[in-house]
Amino acid sequence: MKKHNFSAGPCILPQEVLLKASESVMDFNGLGLSLLEISHRSKEFVEVMETARSLALELLDLQDKGYQALFLQGGASMEFLMVAYNLLENKAGYLNTGTWSDKAIKEAKNFGEVVEVGSSKDENFKYIPKGYTIPTDLDYLHLTSNNTIFGTQINKFPSVNAPLICDMSSDIFSRVIDFSQFDLIYAGAQKNMGPAGTTLVIVKEDILGKVSRQIPSMLDYKVHIEKNSMFNTPAVFPVYVSMLTLQWLKDMGGIAAIEEINNKKARLLYSEIDLSPVFEGFANKEDRSIMNATFNITDEKLKDTFEKMLKEGGINGLNGHRSVGGYRASMYNALSLDSVGVLVDIMSEMERKG
Ligand SMILES: *Cc1c(COP(=O)(O)O)cnc(C)c1O
Repeated sequence: MKKHNFSAGPCILPQEVLLKASESVMDFNGLGLSLLEISHRSKEFVEVMETARSLALELLDLQDKGYQALFLQGGASMEFLMVAYNLLENKAGYLNTGTWSDKAIKEAKNFGEVVEVGSSKDENFKYIPKGYTIPTDLDYLHLTSNNTIFGTQINKFPSVNAPLICDMSSDIFSRVIDFSQFDLIYAGAQKNMGPAGTTLVIVKEDILGKVSRQIPSMLDYKVHIEKNSMFNTPAVFPVYVSMLTLQWLKDMGGIAAIEEINNKKARLLYSEIDLSPVFEGFANKEDRSIMNATFNITDEKLKDTFEKMLKEGGINGLNGHRSVGGYRASMYNALSLDSVGVLVDIMSEMERKG
């Protein structure tokens, strides 16, 4: 039986995507060859790469606006340093909203001065800082739109007179925002787009080429753009599965359609968390993420019963990150409203026991 997969990442992918992906491993598009054994320079794979790149821009409504989409390797963690390598000459601003932004800050410090414009470290990142002052002489401002570990999400993005960079690893393609307010967006595929092994980078070309340092080819966005995201052998399978997921999303009506379902899922779960005396949310209500809901059980004695019920109900991946504890329900695009319903039923049954 297929489990209800609330894993934070790598995580759930649409069933039909998994089916097509598995077929491609045996016989790709009737070629008599596996996707894994054809040249990445073949016409068939080049078409996969180009389709994936253009679907990403199309879904984000960034076509013909000066942006390029790249599928790189090294994860979002590689982008922590690539962003700074390519863009940080003097001073960059970072909003510190949790573990991932903290790591991005650490890497950027290798390349220049880093100003933390705001931080919610004082309360273990359970809120998004607001009303902070942004210096006027920044090379760029870096944000993390969704804090996967703490379950917070930025709703209102600041306006700034410098390039705006955003790590959207765990909420890209999940909600409608004006993506053109950003100059560079990056996301590890394994949260809302595909398998681990590739990272989507969307970059506005006119912000590049402004730093004075020499950039090694593999770390230079301009090189990857020039080579159409094929400077070296790309992660063919993760790129293909990402393409299938983007196609799936387009076919179901794009980001606006999935956002509606994502909002329903989040409302269903958060209303149970808020109504039940047995559970308590971690993140401040106004900053709650629709992707990752973090919560705890109020009576430790009920923990074993709850976890047994989760197991029996086929719920996978509900353990919270070690830095927060408790539980985390990740409700990425491919997770159905029904799966959230199953979890909420178990939670309300707990309420009767509690
Ligand atoms: C998971 C995650 C990362 C790290 O991604 P890797 O691909 O493992 O390097 C970075 N940022 C956010 C917001 C994440 O959720």
